Amino acid sequence: MRIDILTVLPQLLDSPFSASIMQRAQDKGHVEIHIHNIRDYSTNKHKNVDDYQYGGGAGMVMSIEPIAAAIEKLKAERNYDDVIYMSPDGELLEQSICNTMSLSKNLLILCGHYKGVDERIREHYITREISIGSYVLSGGELGAAVLVDSIVRLIPGVLNDETSALTDCFQDDLLSPPVYTRPPSFNGWVVPEVLLSGDFAKIEKWREEKAMERTIEKRPDLLD
Ligand code: SAH
Repeated sequence: MRIDILTVLPQLLDSPFSASIMQRAQDKGHVEIHIHNIRDYSTNKHKNVDDYQYGGGAGMVMSIEPIAAAIEKLKAERNYDDVIYMSPDGELLEQSICNTMSLSKNLLILCGHYKGVDERIREHYITREISIGSYVLSGGELGAAVLVDSIVRLIPGVLNDETSALTDCFQDDLLSPPVYTRPPSFNGWVVPEVLLSGDFAKIEKWREEKAMERTIEKRPDLLD
């Protein structure tokens, strides 16, 4: 998979992809992540990427020209499954969206800033708008990092034990069961005996029950 991200603050995206699973996914060739500075596409003398909004009011708007130039250039080089705009009024990100997007070949993600982007970008270039929650961030970069992480970990071969993504929360609309590691007793707090039994059928049944209990307790809406 190839992911291109358009931003005015590329430095915000340095660290999320340069450690642990995200770094390994790139090293192993499962994903290429390319960060593009929108400012490089500004033809303006001062490399401006924003301007006052028509009609007046507080807050700058990201201009159409540099973003359009960047998108046009990238789209001429390859076909994108989706051109995504990170936006608080977009579709709320959830696991089923990540699952579908993890099958993409090329994704282009636009990060907004200030008051957001000129609406004509959304009308003419964007195919999908994603929100990471009902709150407002100062820029789309953290949202893009969340989106990319949630997608890339699903690409086959990225996680060491591929089945581990399948047993995560929200797959099958259930939360994950509790997990434990050594020691078996700490301060007298013991690990459930069944997990030490070596009886895999029993362990599987216990995990299913706990997953259901947890979902009923914490997220009954998932079972609707
Ligand atoms: N004025 C806009 C908010 C702009 S916030 C409004 O009220 O809708 C600046 C940028 O941050 C947005 O363009 C978007 O790219 C990003 N952003 C803010 N909140 C976000 C969220 N919940 N999910 C995804 N992106 C978000």
